[in-house]
Amino acid sequence: MGLYREVFSVQRRFSQRIPDRLPHLTEAQALRLVEEGGTLIDAGKLDVDVALVGELMGQLAEVLVKKSESPVDSLHDFIANELDEEGLSELIGAFLERDDEEFLRRAEGYSQDPALLYMLLHMSLAPFFWKAAGAAVRKADLDQVPRGRCPVCGDLPIMGFLRSEDGLRVLECSLCGSRWGVPRIMCPFCMNVDQGKLKYIFAEGDEGRRAYLCEKCGRYIKVSSAPGEKDEEFVVPLEDLATAHLDLAAQEKGYERGCRTVFS
Ligand SMILES: [Zn+2]
Ligand SMILES: [Zn+2]
Repeated sequence: MGLYREVFSVQRRFSQRIPDRLPHLTEAQALRLVEEGGTLIDAGKLDVDVALVGELMGQLAEVLVKKSESPVDSLHDFIANELDEEGLSELIGAFLERDDEEFLRRAEGYSQDPALLYMLLHMSLAPFFWKAAGAAVRKADLDQVPRGRCPVCGDLPIMGFLRSEDGLRVLECSLCGSRWGVPRIMCPFCMNVDQGKLKYIFAEGDEGRRAYLCEKCGRYIKVSSAPGEKDEEFVVPLEDLATAHLDLAAQEKGYERGCRTVFS
């Protein structure tokens, strides 16, 4: 949790240096986009300052090296000496285009584990998505979007929670942090709505925190009841860490996490 807080504070500090973008969509356009299954942000067209990403990556790497138990010591050297601006720009391009093959091909040319590079980029680009999402989300009603991927940026949900006021199941995007409402019975990873193929597990005495297991695709999503005060202040990435026991239990049963983050 200390790691999460440090990473988040670095990201937040950097997000202040990213210029605010004026919303380019009208409310009606945003609504239509969501209804048609599109995303409010076109990630491939996101305006990203490569030098700023590089700087943020360097600081995040520092936090990771300091706090992490895994061997990432060589990360510093990689960012300072191995990765130049052109290489970074290419990685960013593949990430934003969601071209996993291209990303892997480029990442494999470096000394670091491609999965670690992906996580690092995910963390470094998140503040750019926050900035772009903030404006877009205000334009659209995201309460009923029966979709497994974020209607704002298209990424996967980190986990879900039940909104206090009405019990709506809300998912939170792992990349841009937007929240959207989905039906209670639905696997966000394969869109399975067959109740017979969705079951849930919870720890004894803590029924408000569950992992929903999908028999169809073999993945799971965690869903917690919001604490009941202000949902806006419910920090989903921290709840994700607080429910790590559910990840273990689900994985012991042979289910795979639908969306990985650097902390989980
Ligand atoms: Zn998103
Ligand atoms: Zn599924």
